[in-house]
Amino acid sequence: MTSNSSKLQPVRGTQDAMPHENKLFRYIEETAFKVACRYGFGEISTPIFEFTEVFSRTLGDNSDIVTKEMYTFKDRGGDYLTLRPEGTAGVARAVISNGLAQDLPLKLFYRGPMFRYERPQKGRRRQFQQVGIEIIGVSETQADIETIALGQHFLADLGIDKGLTLEINTLGDLESRTTYRGCLVDYLSDYQSKLSKDSALRLSQNPLRILDSKNEDDREIVAGAPLLKDSLNDESRRLFDDLLNGLTQLKLEYIVNDKLVRGLDYYSHTAFEFTSRSLGAQSAVLAGGRYDGLISQMGGPEIPGIGWAAGVERLALLLGNTHFLDRPISVIPVNKDLTNEAINLADRLRRKGFNVELGYSGNLSKRMKRANKANSCAVIILGADEFLRNKSLVRDMDSGEQVEVSLEHLNKHLEPYK
Ligand code: ATP
Ligand code: MG
Repeated sequence: MTSNSSKLQPVRGTQDAMPHENKLFRYIEETAFKVACRYGFGEISTPIFEFTEVFSRTLGDNSDIVTKEMYTFKDRGGDYLTLRPEGTAGVARAVISNGLAQDLPLKLFYRGPMFRYERPQKGRRRQFQQVGIEIIGVSETQADIETIALGQHFLADLGIDKGLTLEINTLGDLESRTTYRGCLVDYLSDYQSKLSKDSALRLSQNPLRILDSKNEDDREIVAGAPLLKDSLNDESRRLFDDLLNGLTQLKLEYIVNDKLVRGLDYYSHTAFEFTSRSLGAQSAVLAGGRYDGLISQMGGPEIPGIGWAAGVERLALLLGNTHFLDRPISVIPVNKDLTNEAINLADRLRRKGFNVELGYSGNLSKRMKRANKANSCAVIILGADEFLRNKSLVRDMDSGEQVEVSLEHLNKHLEPYK
């Protein structure tokens, strides 16, 4: 054992999730899944590791993920495997391996952990969770509109859409990007010595990514760079106009961000992000785009695709506390003699679909404190006198109001707390 592992700390950038955190994570995931179901999506699960090639071939040899962020290892059989850094490449691989290209279009939802060797900070971890969707086999702009609408719908159901901005751009088709690449490199070459080390490297390999640099000096240089939209060919321009019109028709607000390029190489045409101002540099909570070249690049047929992924932990940071989730009703007997009655009552209510906490021990005030800590919405106090009269006291924990309710009418009285 090394000294690090003997400290019994989790690996840097990973964390244990406590019950209240998992509650929030599962709520976010389920909200995404329910919305996706309303749009006719089905869930796919792919393994959390794949042959390294699945990612290195598709994400692009020069992407940050492939060059710096992948967890790659050789297994006992000598195969190079990688813990998945994102979901799309695995889904595309699954489409090819399972011969799903016969059943297009596919509308797939996924969820699960992703792994990237990054510098940990607020909203950035080495193991994190994503939910995501893919529409595979549709080149029409309709799919782009539906994809973005679904993302917005999900964020609206979480109640956080108002604080977010939809930023959108087009990367055009390959022809447009090649033209643009030339213009951009021409412009940036004059500033080569002033660019950050990362950006200087990207100049020959992946110049479009420089547009996305977070470095202040780079950003100043980039501010004067030629715009991709001026290199778009007619077809790419038309597709983007159709998309923007479609969003406007759905009353989805957006801003066009000429500098939005996305981190991965496989994108073409549409790129978008929902960003927040309250997460610092980790501003993107849901991001995606069109990846028409991905499946063919992987060795499959020429099939277009579009999708997005959202970071569950980042969404959780925006949602904040979990108090609105599943608040229990606590049952508290005032003395030991009523323990069995309390157990019976709790059992009856749980079987009627209520979340019920049972105060295990201690005097009334101690149990009330615990009920409060459990964030109970109501407390049922079973007192000896009341019980003899078939009654209980129900206290609303938010208003503090306390009423006597007969045991037969408890279900009905508690209905609003469900
Ligand atoms: P960033 O610019 O923040 O690095 P990205 O472009 O690498 O994001 P994507 O690959 O598009 O991110 O992943 C989609 C979403 O997954 C992001 O918008 C973010 O919410 C989340 N995400 C990405 N990387 C991390 C990470 N290391 N930790 C937590 N969440 C992440
Ligand atoms: Mg990243």
